[in-house]
Amino acid sequence: MADYLISGGTGYVPEDGLTAQQLFANADGLTYNDFLILPGFIDFIADEVDLTSALTRKVTLKTPLISSPMDTVTEADMAIAMAKFEQGFITDPVVLSPSHTVGDVLEAKIRHGFSGIPITETGTMGSKLVGIVTSRDIDFLAEKDHTTLLSEVMTPRIELVVAPAGVTLKEANEILQRSKKGKLPIVNDRDELVAIIARTDLKKNRDYPLASKDSHKQLLCGAAVGTREDDKYRLDLLTQAGADVIVLDSSQGNSVYQIAMVHYIKQKYPHLQVIGGNVVTAAQAKNLIDAGVDGLRVGMGCGSICITQEVMACGRPQGTAVYKVAEYARRFGVPVIADGGIQTVGHVVKALALGASTVMMGSLLAATTEAPGEYFFSDGVRLKKYRGMGSLDAMEKSSSSQKRYFSEGDKVKIAQGVSGSIQDKGSIQKFVPYLIAGIQHGCQDIGARSLCVLRSMMYSGELKFEKRTMSAQIEGGVHGLHSYEKRLY
Ligand code: IMP
Repeated sequence: MADYLISGGTGYVPEDGLTAQQLFANADGLTYNDFLILPGFIDFIADEVDLTSALTRKVTLKTPLISSPMDTVTEADMAIAMAKFEQGFITDPVVLSPSHTVGDVLEAKIRHGFSGIPITETGTMGSKLVGIVTSRDIDFLAEKDHTTLLSEVMTPRIELVVAPAGVTLKEANEILQRSKKGKLPIVNDRDELVAIIARTDLKKNRDYPLASKDSHKQLLCGAAVGTREDDKYRLDLLTQAGADVIVLDSSQGNSVYQIAMVHYIKQKYPHLQVIGGNVVTAAQAKNLIDAGVDGLRVGMGCGSICITQEVMACGRPQGTAVYKVAEYARRFGVPVIADGGIQTVGHVVKALALGASTVMMGSLLAATTEAPGEYFFSDGVRLKKYRGMGSLDAMEKSSSSQKRYFSEGDKVKIAQGVSGSIQDKGSIQKFVPYLIAGIQHGCQDIGARSLCVLRSMMYSGELKFEKRTMSAQIEGGVHGLHSYEKRLY
């Protein structure tokens, strides 16, 4: 019982749970539902969790979320809406008014963990900026001075460096850097506060100038191409249009076609970031990494609309696929996208905890306002269409989706996906913030202040997992109620 040895007052805690290596040690393929993460120690607020993560070797995103290149998920509206979330503007910061007190600032500091608070006339966003209170303004006040009004201690508007609304993130960051201040308020032409950016964010992002916009100040955008001759033309058009990342879209990426395409792109556009895939084994990943890819897309048969495993007999449960590929690819500095099978925000956290740097979502983002297609009603429910790119429906409409599934020119088309519908989810303007906050809370429970920390905890063996039996899965869901309503946000 070596691990139960008691020493002094507190004693050793017995080993508990499995490391990721142990979790995946035997040959059972695991899905996200087959395991849980054991909670860790919390000494920070969820808001603080840094979600910066690499998409490719050279492109870093502020949130690890990507929409699938599918014709019922991503067109311009979705791409623009998703990219905007990667900006560093904080549009809902804590704001106080001049009639609040120093005590209010201290309370906000305890609750939110920071002290650079903008002061507006009414204490809300959208109202006239009148000053800012930083820790330097209140550091030397005595205990009894907690009732002092902020109007007496704040740094007044006249002394503040601000930036005008409409400023790009890069410009705002430059102003912030020059000003040497902790926060930069962004005001409209009526001097009303519309956003702030924080120096702490700037510091985190200093090494990743591409975080939200490319060198042409355009929102970051990736686009998918196939691997055939005419895709080279699409590639030229996409690079001319300013695509930052090219995704080679194939259900099984380990092919001579894809390797040749990676070579072609790297020779013609050496600076373009190329994501290869899809792969689910280290052996598949090796060929694409050797060919020169900058990122890998992982998943085969786990998508909600997917029947690949049923029809082709190939694929892999997604938890295992993500862990195995990420664990191999990290040795070469190649980030991994966990693509498909994400049904909940918990699945996002699990994918990231298994080594993925980002997650790609189809069904979760389908039927949002920003997804392509019109809403329709069926039995009184408002729906949008969502279909697999390997469904007969999609293949009949588009030759590129046939190429993804190697079935162009085939006399008999073999469907690898289905076509269906999903209930209206509203705008991703509400849904994505929910996902972001959910990931931050998951990381907080785990005790990881950032996604980098999360991954290093996993690889060091500090992060512990446990398998879930069928009854554990039932216990972990809502049970025993006559009826209930499941509202998530
Ligand atoms: P979801 O997020 O579970 O809905 O999965 C979306 C992912 O499924 C996409 O990003 C693709 O990798 C994959 N996918 C898209 N269409 C098909 C298909 O027809 N068959 C199999 N997989 C597909």
